[in-house]
Formats: sequence, C-alpha cells, structure tokens
Amino acid sequence: MCKLEEYGNCDEETREQEYCIFHKPDKNEIEAREFYKKFLERFRHRSEKVKIEESLGEKVIIRFVFEKDVNCAGYHFPKIPKDSNFSFEYAVFKGNAWFGGVTFKGNASFKGTVFEKYAEFDEATFEKMLILVGQYLIIGRGLGVLHLKGVQTFGNRYLNIEHCFLRLRLRKM
Ligand SMILES: [Zn+2]
Repeated sequence: MCKLEEYGNCDEETREQEYCIFHKPDKNEIEAREFYKKFLERFRHRSEKVKIEESLGEKVIIRFVFEKDVNCAGYHFPKIPKDSNFSFEYAVFKGNAWFGGVTFKGNASFKGTVFEKYAEFDEATFEKMLILVGQYLIIGRGLGVLHLKGVQTFGNRYLNIEHCFLRLRLRKM
C-alpha cells in the first residue's frame, strides 16, 4: 500500500505500490509525465482561453479551471517536463484547494492563480523557486484562510533557494 495512503487521495491504479504515483518522491521523467497526466484526469478541469494584462501588454493564454475541490495533499510534484503544458499560472480553483504537505521539486509558480475558496499549503515544501505574483490570490471567502506556514519561515528548509513575492496582494472578500 502507498505509504502516504492516510491522505486518502492516492492514485487507484498504483496504490498497491510502495508509493502511488501521486505520492512517490523522486519521480523519473516517465513518472513525471504520468503524474501530470493523471493529475489532470483526476481533478476534473477545463481549459479556457483568456486575455490577461501584463506589464508588457495584453496576451492570450490558456488556463486550467478546476470546478471541484482539488485535494492533492501530500503529493510530490516533480519538475514539469519540458514538452508538458501543465501550469498553475492563472489557474482558477473554484473549490477548496488542499496542498498540505506537498513537495514541489521544481519551480512552483502560482502567478495569477485564483483560489476562490479555501487554499491550504500547510507544511508545503518548495525546493526551488516559489512564485506568487499577481493580484488574483484571493483569500478569506467564508471560512477560507490561506495558510502558508512554510512560506512565513524564510530561509528554513522549506524555502531554501529563492523567493518571489512580487506584487502579492492578499485580499479579503
Ligand atoms: Zn498515495
């Protein structure tokens, strides 16, 4: 059984292994591809084309919209493979987003990401760059609170490389 099955969000197909594909640390390139493919299959999402404004002007991007809760607690996010179009940039989380205990091996960019409900990053580990840019990080709807425990403690093991908090605005709704 997956050693992290207590999170209750294992991949069904690989849960009998030492770690399921979602929780497995140190994935190789093939496993990384499988991880992102399965992530998008598991958390029902749609892609939408939107126009965004950046300092250099408008541009059209395709972003993911997650309509339901996304519980990826304890997942190990490998570096995104080069030819993958996976990105949390400008993504919209319409339900709760549980990122407690996750590990990001590569850069984690939440540039322009919208969390419409509860977003939790308790004990998240960012091994490379954590990018929180933009004015769309919205917290505090209803009971929602954004916990960035690891982020508050700069320079510790959770955040040991580089941190970007450009134009971060946390807005209560
Ligand atoms: Zn698992």
